Amino acid sequence: MNNFDFHNPTHILFGKGRITDLKDQIPDDAKVLIIYGGGSAERTGVLGQVRDALEGHSLVEFGGIEPNPRYATALKAVNIIHNEDITFLLAVGGGSVIDATKFIAAAALHDGDPWDILTSFGSVITQAMPFGSVLTLPATASEMNANSVITNPEKGAKLPFRSAHCFPVFSILDPEVTYTLPDRQIANGVADPFVHIIEQYLTYPVNAPVQDGFAETMMRTLIDLGPKALANPKDYEIRANLMWTATLALNGLIGAGVPQDWASHMIGHEITAYNDTDHARTLAVVLPSLMNDQRGPKCEKLLQYAANVWDIRDGSDNERIDAAIDATRAFFEDLGIKTRLSDYDVDASGIDHIVAALKDHGMTELGEHGEITPKDARRILEAAA
Ligand code: NAP
Ligand code: FE
Repeated sequence: MNNFDFHNPTHILFGKGRITDLKDQIPDDAKVLIIYGGGSAERTGVLGQVRDALEGHSLVEFGGIEPNPRYATALKAVNIIHNEDITFLLAVGGGSVIDATKFIAAAALHDGDPWDILTSFGSVITQAMPFGSVLTLPATASEMNANSVITNPEKGAKLPFRSAHCFPVFSILDPEVTYTLPDRQIANGVADPFVHIIEQYLTYPVNAPVQDGFAETMMRTLIDLGPKALANPKDYEIRANLMWTATLALNGLIGAGVPQDWASHMIGHEITAYNDTDHARTLAVVLPSLMNDQRGPKCEKLLQYAANVWDIRDGSDNERIDAAIDATRAFFEDLGIKTRLSDYDVDASGIDHIVAALKDHGMTELGEHGEITPKDARRILEAAA
């Protein structure tokens, strides 16, 4: 196993009715900025529950964070923080709202150009405002990690950053608030954590049976429960197990001490920057093609994945790997997620654009060996056309 640091300070409050516990998590004298998205939180009543729970607190609200949150919108919230002397932030929404809140929390205390936060991948961050979250869409694990991804259409960029200062102080996970998710977001919320797990699992073996076993159990859980959540959207046990799986998939636990890939994510981000395709869908396009392309370096783990996740045990190495890739693609398609670039209107000139953007954004040495170059990404994308 490799050396690692593991530190996750986020307090999770999980279960039915937990939004009422908000009042105990935020200091009485705080001036709170509630940050939310395009209106689902208002329509579903979650914002109402939050306002009720925080009665007596001084509240200001900022709505309009987009899916794939925009840099310019986040900066508007930073202005409000300065003008209104806000002392605590509360994100109410999915990964986009929580990611935006992380950027806002850091940018509000950053001396200098906030764009530096993104070009430095977060390394310039020395402090951030305290913030909590009420999660409405289980998918990204942003509720229990220190990562964020911000889009700037003017620069054609979707850039990730990370800072130890950007963990939520607390996150409230009430599975019942996920009942209102449309099928498209339920499916995204299965595919994105599945690929998060793969990015930390499908690398090269380092003798870490606990991390591997945990990852395999979570993948089998997503394969089992994803279709069931689509068929029975108000089944509490299904939604509760999916919600916690999505959090555990990227809260640092299974990634401790193991090599990590993240090439599917970095290539996928450029597809979203190109034409706003849902994050999870970009991954469902890139991953099967990347598995096929990288079957040499990933051979040992691909065979382990075939056996332990899909129960594929017969045939030659190549036949078992082919069957595992086919099963992965079929899993996404059965969730209603298309797996070809042409399904998302990306043609040859789109691939040129995406490959150029990878170069522009310094994504030139991807994967667990740092050996996936833009030329390799082009081959992977062309095979996914
Ligand atoms: P999202 O972009 O936060 O939300 C997608 C849509 O779902 C929005 O239109 C939202 O509507 C709606 N929605 C949210 N909760 C709902 C509910 N309970 N009922 C009905 N509709 C609801 O989706 P996401 O997949 O969670 O986040 C995607 C972003 O996270 C991407 O930018 C991706 O790159 C990033 N990401 C971050 C990490 C990380 O570690 N931080 C990891 C992977 C991906 P409203 O806008 O109206 O609320
Ligand atoms: Fe993701």
